[in-house]
Amino acid sequence: MDETDCVVVGGGPGGAVLAYLLARAGRRVTLLEARSDFARRFRGDSLAPAVMDWLDTLGLADDVLARPHATADAFTWHTPTASYRVADYGRASARFPHYVLLPQPEFLGLLTGRAQDHPGFRLEMSARVNELVEEGGRVVGVRYRAADGEVREVRAPLVVGADGRFSQVRRLGGFDTEELGAGLDILWFEVPRRDTDPPLSGLDYFAVPGAAIVALGQGATWQLGYVIPTGTVARAREAGVGPVVELARDRMPWLGDRLDALTAFTDLTLLNVRITRLPHWYRPGLLLLGDAAHVISPVGGNGINIAIADAADAGNALVPALRAADAELDAACRAFEVRRRAVSDAEQRSQVRAERGSLERMERGDPRPAWILRLAAAVPPIARAFGTRSASAIAIPDPSPAVLGAR
Ligand SMILES: Cc1cc2nc3c(=O)[nH]c(=O)nc-3n(C[C@H](O)[C@H](O)[C@H](O)COP(=O)(O)OP(=O)(O)OC[C@H]3O[C@@H](n4cnc5c(N)ncnc54)[C@H](O)[C@@H]3O)c2cc1C
Repeated sequence: MDETDCVVVGGGPGGAVLAYLLARAGRRVTLLEARSDFARRFRGDSLAPAVMDWLDTLGLADDVLARPHATADAFTWHTPTASYRVADYGRASARFPHYVLLPQPEFLGLLTGRAQDHPGFRLEMSARVNELVEEGGRVVGVRYRAADGEVREVRAPLVVGADGRFSQVRRLGGFDTEELGAGLDILWFEVPRRDTDPPLSGLDYFAVPGAAIVALGQGATWQLGYVIPTGTVARAREAGVGPVVELARDRMPWLGDRLDALTAFTDLTLLNVRITRLPHWYRPGLLLLGDAAHVISPVGGNGINIAIADAADAGNALVPALRAADAELDAACRAFEVRRRAVSDAEQRSQVRAERGSLERMERGDPRPAWILRLAAAVPPIARAFGTRSASAIAIPDPSPAVLGAR
């Protein structure tokens, strides 16, 4: 049995960032990741300007920019007859007036690599947590199956469940969940990106009457998502890949023969969009964050950013609290939950509204964005205000002196 100051379950953006911050501040932290590597496709890759500023404060932004990435200076909604620049990130940050689109495996490799510089950090891959260890009403550790098939135990004053939308820790901890009802699902695929491709905005939405496709420019690929109303995947499967290729070819003709590789419906990856709220994120000794605490929709591209901001806030709160008495640790975790739930609740409410609106317009055959977005596109200061809204939607706090100090 091992002992540490904090066990973090799940090496996604939330878990990797929290583990890095705790290790950097001199705490012992064990990060357990079920998979054998960080390879993952079709995930949130869009680092918001406010998150880039935060990474810069920690001295990590240049490492991000040294990796293959793309930037998105606006979110643009295209119809067959017009383009609407509905959010402009030009004023969102002095150094990073754009989203940075970095494939998630690169981001996770960077964070865990930097965390290795600190002696308190331990990362175990292929470590699947399947049991909580409890004593006297508190969670005091986890049991997990290690790469060699052995069941191991690690104990700590706090276990953090950062194990994503299907969180096992959430289930083991007995937390309730409430589905808020998403309106849209997405079928993702990718095609190679060429230097000669038009740059677009980086975050583009191509709508035609009754259908839409989203395009995210990344390092070497375009990540494309065909948007369908929730519950219609069976109908889409029956129609096959044809309508998807047809729409992509029609709206992005320069993709040309790169779309020929898409021949079967199984080439598409379904993102079953969910918006899940939890009444509680904490019970003594066990805290949830990121998607484990609040699954949000890809609308707005902030899943990764809110997970990172949760971790940033948790890092500030936990560095002192992990060395304090249980009562103080409990109070710090409850205060964290109150602060961050306000953020995710607001984002989820706006996503439910946006998804319902998009679905209604799709069903009406109207490819235009909502009137408020059309207004933003017509009045650039409003589009810039929408671009800076991403910072308040994420609400990432500055790193505390204790986190920053030990660089
Ligand atoms: C298909 C898809 C597309 C998306 N597109 C976007 C987008 O365009 N923009 C955006 O911002 N967000 C998007 N998201 C959401 C975004 O990826 C997530 O919000 C973000 O990754 C959440 O980070 P997280 O650290 O909370 O969880 P995750 O990234 O889900 O990480 C959880 C980690 O926990 C590990 N794990 C799970 N169970 C266990 C266990 N029992 N033991 C140990 N480890 C475990 C998993 O292997 C995983 O590595 C998308 C998500 C999906 C699935």
